[in-house]
Amino acid sequence: MSHDADMIAMIIDSAAAAIESNKDHLTRLDQLIGDGDHGINMSRGISAIVQKKDELSSLPFDEACKMAGMLIVMTVGGASGPLFGSCLMAIGKGRARMPTNRPELAAMLCDGLDAVKSRGKSDIGAKTMIDVLAPVTAYIATADPFSFEGLRQASADALEATKPIEARKGRAAFLGARSIGHIDPGAQTVTLLVNSISEALENRQ
Ligand code: ADP
Ligand code: MG
Repeated sequence: MSHDADMIAMIIDSAAAAIESNKDHLTRLDQLIGDGDHGINMSRGISAIVQKKDELSSLPFDEACKMAGMLIVMTVGGASGPLFGSCLMAIGKGRARMPTNRPELAAMLCDGLDAVKSRGKSDIGAKTMIDVLAPVTAYIATADPFSFEGLRQASADALEATKPIEARKGRAAFLGARSIGHIDPGAQTVTLLVNSISEALENRQ
């Protein structure tokens, strides 16, 4: 197996383990400020990707991201399906190979973040997945020194910081001030993915 094939398979496995073992937690968070389907939505999406793991890991990185993104859009539904799906597609676009250094990784995540912002007509501070994705991208771009532990801490801090925000996008926005005090489900998903993928990368080195 090529290095990228190996990495793609590893990332799929760790993302799937994180989503599946936290499915009920994600659903509970969405019951508090949404419609209670986020865990089910994400589980459906990651299962579709796991089913295609062999095919995905045999593809060049850009094509794998495009196919995985389309699987997410088709299976996840809700607001988050098109958002995570377009994020993945943007991450792969123009990158036949996976990033091999931190500036390349940061640029890749920046493209993913921009895709979420434009698809969701949203930005930082609206209590969405962007509130973790943006600081995580910034940490990867600028942290000196960088550590995986520091990355996970940045992600955990950003997640906690979604609590006091009043939601301005997605279903939670209908709750207005009543959304205050709760963690955003989509932000929790991003943190789970950052934690699981970074642990897999760290243990591999
Ligand atoms: P739905 O809200 O349609 O039920 P999910 O429950 O799967 O979809 O996902 C909800 C998550 O989607 C939210 O917690 C939030 O992080 C994210 N989200 C919703 N709307 C937007 C948006 N406009 N921009 C960015 N993220 C959003
Ligand atoms: Mg929901």
